[in-house]
Amino acid sequence: MKRKIIIAIFGIFFYSCVSTQNGTHSIGEPVNIVTKNNVTIYQVLNGRCNVFIIADEKNCILIDTSVKRDKKELFAKIDAFIENGYSFRALILTHSHYDHAMNARDINIKYGMEIIIHDKEKKYINRGKNPPVVGTVTGSKIFTFFFINPALSLKKYKPVTSCNVVDDDIYCLKSLGINAYLLYTPGHSIGSISIIVDDEIAIVGDAMVGYPKSIFPPFATDTKLLIASWEKLINTNCSKFIPSHGTSNNRDVVIKQFDYYKNMSD
Ligand SMILES: [Zn+2]
Ligand SMILES: [Zn+2]
Repeated sequence: MKRKIIIAIFGIFFYSCVSTQNGTHSIGEPVNIVTKNNVTIYQVLNGRCNVFIIADEKNCILIDTSVKRDKKELFAKIDAFIENGYSFRALILTHSHYDHAMNARDINIKYGMEIIIHDKEKKYINRGKNPPVVGTVTGSKIFTFFFINPALSLKKYKPVTSCNVVDDDIYCLKSLGINAYLLYTPGHSIGSISIIVDDEIAIVGDAMVGYPKSIFPPFATDTKLLIASWEKLINTNCSKFIPSHGTSNNRDVVIKQFDYYKNMSD
């Protein structure tokens, strides 16, 4: 037992280091994009996990929540939007890893926001548990098995039991007053989703990262599914693909990396 705890603590330390190091890449230009139909994407948090608010006139939706230490700052951002007359129609979770879902329950209680998540993540969010991950390269596969997954099993968060779960490949968000839809993009986790805004910008969660050398995430449950999801994303008309870790990727970068990894997985 003692040994397990030590391994898990080491894993948490490593996972946090990777994340913090990754976070430094994302601190730079904040993403405030206005699409052709005047939908605005605000990046309200960066660092540990990028968090976005998508706003169309007076309606808006929140995408992901980051970790506990970001809660105060996130609540202040939400309050500022509300003070400016915006109405939050939903909180969308790209998937149920703790760095995306940790503040979901508190947001649901404080602001009454409906939480939307894919059906395949339901069993994790209902229990405040992390979906398991697998390293995407040989070295990290072993490391993930021995360190990251034990660490993730300790990183529990407040469970959310009342969610609006979606299981469609495409789920329209127009009823929330936002010209956007959810696209099922599994691979990093089994129920990962992306948000396609105005058929122009994709917010992709952990389906890819935004680092200078590669957009391939270090952890995934199924790399073939992940590459297939990249193809789905390319088949939209989006010109930018904004991940939760790192900075946005242009379309040509995603196509290039898709061609490279697709050939490797054939
Ligand atoms: Zn994740
Ligand atoms: Zn993440």
